[in-house]
Amino acid sequence: MNVSDTEIVWSILQAAGYDKTDSSAHADVILVMTCAIRDRAETKIWNKLTHYRGLKRSRSQKKNFPPLQIGILGCMAERLKSELVEKERSVDLVAGPDSYRDLPRLLATASLTGQPAINVALSLDETYADIVPVRMSADGVTAYVSIMRGCDNMCTYCIVPFTRGRERSRPIESILAEVGHLSEQGVKEVTLLGQNVNSYRDTTSSDSDPNAQTITAKGFSTVYKPKRGGLRFAHLLDRVASVDPEMRIRFTSPHPKDFPDEVLEVIRSRPNICCSLHLPAQSGNDRVLERMRRGYTRRSYLDLVERVRRVLPSVALSSDFICGFCGETDSEFEDTLSLIRQVGFNTAYLFAYSMREKTTAHRRYQDDVPPEVKQRRLVAMVSTFREEAATLNKSLVGKQQTVLVEGVSLFFVILIFRL
Ligand code: SF4
Repeated sequence: MNVSDTEIVWSILQAAGYDKTDSSAHADVILVMTCAIRDRAETKIWNKLTHYRGLKRSRSQKKNFPPLQIGILGCMAERLKSELVEKERSVDLVAGPDSYRDLPRLLATASLTGQPAINVALSLDETYADIVPVRMSADGVTAYVSIMRGCDNMCTYCIVPFTRGRERSRPIESILAEVGHLSEQGVKEVTLLGQNVNSYRDTTSSDSDPNAQTITAKGFSTVYKPKRGGLRFAHLLDRVASVDPEMRIRFTSPHPKDFPDEVLEVIRSRPNICCSLHLPAQSGNDRVLERMRRGYTRRSYLDLVERVRRVLPSVALSSDFICGFCGETDSEFEDTLSLIRQVGFNTAYLFAYSMREKTTAHRRYQDDVPPEVKQRRLVAMVSTFREEAATLNKSLVGKQQTVLVEGVSLFFVILIFRL
């Protein structure tokens, strides 16, 4: 998502007359796109800022050069707001995920006044639908297309609803136009992006039934009232897949609740939609899932996996898991390990819980699992996942698959050179 946002920002700045340099030492402006999902992501940014502060100081000693401007964009900017400029005085600009159109004005204001410029207002309708992103690697064969922003789910551990705001979807026609444009440029694979990508709901189209109620996967619930009307993800997926039948389509990141049968049927019926689904489980224990407010039980998750495998027998599954969430006991954690074993995931994103301020968990629960226990559980999750993934990988030995060659790896070049 941050790569996609960077491409939007770059498009806005290019239109305002900015040019890009590959070296921070030559830059007049450095903008850092940030993530706030875990404490470690923010620590990296603080470390970077120490480095940029040094660059700013050495730039100020050079004659005939404008002062270096440093800006923080994205989720960390949204989370910390003015606290960022109070803690790090070298920061000139703070812009949240819905303020990118304002960047040229913010840069000009900071430059004219010498004071930090801040815009962290969240929007109910900003989707940057009319902005054609400038792709970071224009010669690549893959591209991201942002289709929705924000999230209404309010999982108790998650900062995203506070940094990205309410859910809103980009009109379908603008998505189809962008995908068509990418196809003409020779792009072979498009990944549809959103915080909760399969909650997509375009309410601007007159084609939709205004009374049609959102359908969730069986056994899943939401924290919000049922939404009505709008073109849903299954419809979008079908239309996107028909733009160029040779173009591979992926999407991330979904919520398991938004996999009604009709989405699975579209994937089955369209050979160019990659048969690879991300089903973030987070935990295998019902009590932990309830504390996380995920809206499903272990049983309903397993039923969904079974349904997915029945409709898409060759599907590759991936997932996210968090260990050490507030109050997680050893036996609750064992349920996570057993879920990983029971399902068998091809890929998994595994994390030790990192409490974030402002989240419901921060207000309601204690971050009471000691760091060394979290670390031990993380190691156990990684090794359990690897064992299962190795079995799945071995089952593919000797099979033929269509693959997309994205480029030549450096390793391959070195091998050739040595030969
Ligand atoms: S669905 Fe995903 S983005 Fe939304 S609150 Fe839950 S974890 Fe965060």
